[in-house]
Amino acid sequence: MQTVIWWIRRDLRIKNNPTLQAADPENRRVLSVFILDPVLLKRDAKKRKAFLFEGLRRLDEQLRTLGSRLILRAGKPTEELLRLTQESGAAHIYAEEDYSPYSRKRDQEVASRLSLQLVLGLTVYHPNAVKKQDGTPYTVFTPFSKAWKSLPQPDESIHAPTPHFLQIPDGIHSLPIPDAAPVEDFPAGEKEAEKRLQDFLRQRIDGYRDERDRLDLNGTSVLSPYFRFGMLSIRQAVSAAINAIWQAPNDDARAGAEAWLNELIWREFYQSILYHFSEVMQKAFRHDLQWITWRDSSVELNAWKKGLTGYPVVDASMRQLATLGWMHNRGRMITASFLVKDLLINWQEGEEWFMQQLVDGDPASNNGGWQWTAGVGTDAAPYFRIFNPVLQGKRFDPEGGFVRQWVPELVNVPLKYIHEPWRMPLEVQLTSGCVLGKDYPLPIVNHKAARSRTLEAYRKSKSLSSGNY
Ligand SMILES: Cc1cc2nc3c(=O)[nH]c(=O)nc-3n(C[C@H](O)[C@H](O)[C@H](O)COP(=O)(O)OP(=O)(O)OC[C@H]3O[C@@H](n4cnc5c(N)ncnc54)[C@H](O)[C@@H]3O)c2cc1C
Repeated sequence: MQTVIWWIRRDLRIKNNPTLQAADPENRRVLSVFILDPVLLKRDAKKRKAFLFEGLRRLDEQLRTLGSRLILRAGKPTEELLRLTQESGAAHIYAEEDYSPYSRKRDQEVASRLSLQLVLGLTVYHPNAVKKQDGTPYTVFTPFSKAWKSLPQPDESIHAPTPHFLQIPDGIHSLPIPDAAPVEDFPAGEKEAEKRLQDFLRQRIDGYRDERDRLDLNGTSVLSPYFRFGMLSIRQAVSAAINAIWQAPNDDARAGAEAWLNELIWREFYQSILYHFSEVMQKAFRHDLQWITWRDSSVELNAWKKGLTGYPVVDASMRQLATLGWMHNRGRMITASFLVKDLLINWQEGEEWFMQQLVDGDPASNNGGWQWTAGVGTDAAPYFRIFNPVLQGKRFDPEGGFVRQWVPELVNVPLKYIHEPWRMPLEVQLTSGCVLGKDYPLPIVNHKAARSRTLEAYRKSKSLSSGNY
């Protein structure tokens, strides 16, 4: 009987898992292994780690119902896998291919010592499969998505039945899964992911195009943490989106499903960017915007982190992040724009803070989102387009419900002032129980002046890079 290892990294699920299918648990003894890698665990990301640990617990429970169990080890992956192959006699290791620079280096090292088979699963198509005719990678989303959509649709083999596992020998020990309080709004595991997907398909995908930007509505899928750890198959989600397009009862519903598919393709786009341009983890993709002189203000950076900037929609979003470990996409764009364009603080500070806070923190999507908002990345928002936080608030939280939910100091502030409380006359401040500078901060920056400061800094960088300065 051949023994192989299913090395789990970002694919914490049994169903629709091409890597597990390749390991073939019906016919071979499969050891399901997760390695706590100190390099990855050293980052201060409390909620994401708690979500991961709970996900491992759920996976172990599932494996036990299928006649197996999870084997947890801790240490340098190459060494741990060498040890495990010696202990078990495993001939091959199967793992889902990951595209981050660290993962690729780690996997190369493992492959130089052991038989490692990498299997496609993090994205629907491999980044090398979606390229221009001349063989170079796309750096603009629209042509990437056209090429992506022209590829044959994901095959149905992903719907293979859940396998039973052959028992693994008793002698293979496992460390206990670390304890951590579950993340309140995100119960981990593939059952929960499946439930959320089905709820979204039943109740919200039809209205997705129209409601996805509204901060005060529950208009999106809130599946990102589950994609982050592969508790839900991306191929399954894409197939569901395509089915929803085909079966849409009307044009609005079709537009909703198309818009959702588009977002899943953005995810694929950023994974592809990271795969082909790993240097984005260190610097701006755009060379001409690598010379911006950023401001160094720990006071303003901390006010942003704590949700105390005096701009309600920014503060509400930052507090949503601190509480849930998740932020609405519109909020991510508004808060990122505020840090970079209003405070002129390096986007990499924000990128790092988000990676610490987000349950769904993903190097490719987070880096892509930050570079896009800062206007320095591939297919980025033009650098001179600067979000006005007041107008964004009025447009995407028109009744102020989102602000009132997350910034209780403003709960009794009349709608007229909810997105610009500094305009409140003193008597209104007193009647609404929100005196500015005492109960809620005055704005830490003047948006109009900040806008000019930023445009000047960006212009300077462009001149410096072209040698015209
Ligand atoms: C500054 C910034 C940082 C971000 N950091 C992350 C991150 O660390 N991890 C992360 O998963 N997403 C990130 N995003 C993208 C996006 O905000 C989230 O994926 C989305 O808000 C998750 O909510 P949802 O699951 O309800 O998304 P839905 O709207 O339901 O979309 C479905 C799925 O598509 C993917 N998706 C949607 N929008 C994007 C996008 N713009 N880029 C890439 N993938 C997308 C996600 O996997 C998401 O779960 C970031 C965006 C910005 C602007």
